[in-house]
Amino acid sequence: MRLSRYFLPVLKETPAEAQIVSHRYMLRAGMIKQASAGIYSWLPLGYKVLRRIEQIVHEEQVRAGHIPMLMPTLQSADLWKESGRYDAYGPEMLRIRDRHDRDMLYGPTNEELITDIFRSHVTSYKDLPLTLYHIQWKFRDEIRPRFGVMRGREFLMKDGYNFDLTKEDALHAYNRHLVSYLRTYERMGLQAIPMRADSGPIGGDDTHEFLVLAETGESEVFYDSEITDLKFGDRTIDYDSHDQCRAVLEEFTSRYARTDETHDEAVWADVPEERRRVARGIEVGQIFYFGTKYSEAMGAVVDDGQGGRVPVHMGSHGIGVSRLVGAIIEASHDENGIIWPEGVTPYQVGIVNLKQGDAGCDAACEDLYKAVTAKGLEPLYDDRSERAGAKFATMDLIGLPWRITVGPRGLKSGMVELTSRRTGESEEMTPEAAIARLA
Ligand code: ATP
Ligand code: MG
Ligand code: MG
Ligand code: MG
Repeated sequence: MRLSRYFLPVLKETPAEAQIVSHRYMLRAGMIKQASAGIYSWLPLGYKVLRRIEQIVHEEQVRAGHIPMLMPTLQSADLWKESGRYDAYGPEMLRIRDRHDRDMLYGPTNEELITDIFRSHVTSYKDLPLTLYHIQWKFRDEIRPRFGVMRGREFLMKDGYNFDLTKEDALHAYNRHLVSYLRTYERMGLQAIPMRADSGPIGGDDTHEFLVLAETGESEVFYDSEITDLKFGDRTIDYDSHDQCRAVLEEFTSRYARTDETHDEAVWADVPEERRRVARGIEVGQIFYFGTKYSEAMGAVVDDGQGGRVPVHMGSHGIGVSRLVGAIIEASHDENGIIWPEGVTPYQVGIVNLKQGDAGCDAACEDLYKAVTAKGLEPLYDDRSERAGAKFATMDLIGLPWRITVGPRGLKSGMVELTSRRTGESEEMTPEAAIARLA
């Protein structure tokens, strides 16, 4: 992409309404524009990051054996009346009436809709296990939408639902989700710690939230410092193996890690004092096992192969796709702007032409552009006639992992400059060497 032809409405001033760094940088970098309270348009740069995050979520869900689909944003109230949640959900649910006076709602989550799909088509244990998921916009009329996309009213969520014959199988689905989430967040350059959580209005026995540590997080968290040494890394796992998935769950949840909702002073006291950490965290996902709560209420039963008909065991599992954009920035930035982890960066490298219009510089930049593209990477070329300082400031703000700077002085000896956004270190080298360094 050439910046002269792109739409990147960078703001020079810090927007007064933004209280936290991710919100400030997303506005300043022209990633989002508020449409109304808690509702945002995703401008091209923000949309690109959102899509990359979504893609990672898809890949890891499919890797775990979960099946993508798409359900609508608008739902009929009838199903929610059946489950008993139409009244229970309260004012966070946006209720809508259509021209025929039918009660509709903008889905805040999809347990009812997916259970209805399931019961309409699945009648036998032979079709289990089954995990379906989608990535779709949700609406919750949050009392205090704030912090930009972190607590929006309209937000993008991956929500997945498992259907299993037995509790044991459903707990395997739970564990499998935990493993897939660990992989998902690590690919985004994030450490998200599974913490024991409260089951809240969805109801259920087992639930963990995934929290990214950040001062601006809305949850208070208590954890054993040893937990931050854990990494899933590039180990291979057989998602069908109950033992392997359970072992990962045990490894990642055996140390103390809880949110304020489940914090227990008596258990906390057993953690050695020098390892106790109290901090703040951003909830970027949650997994639930809730048994037969919805299947019983809505008649999602299967023939169990022994002459009986039993309600299926279910769980639901969510990832805050749009919130992650903000959470990643909270976890990775400096005073000049965003520092994108390689896994989610909108472009892998920025090319800065220090003397636009100079035949040598222009040609060298064009060659770099082609070579980066040929390598399967996407460059963002600042080909505007701006001062060097302004170009550098924009590149620092939008946070691409690498910058290649091309100027007449370096070119005399055939050199360009490669700069790492994260370390700030620059090195002179040939264009070929610079390209070879890019991930
Ligand atoms: P929170 O405690 O932050 O209100 P939640 O527990 O109500 O979140 P879940 O029902 O667990 O949310 O939804 C799954 C994920 O969706 C959350 O872990 C979070 O990452 C994301 N999410 C929830 N509410 C919002 C929101 N208002 N804006 C952006 N993302 C959200
Ligand atoms: Mg909530
Ligand atoms: Mg929560
Ligand atoms: Mg939650």
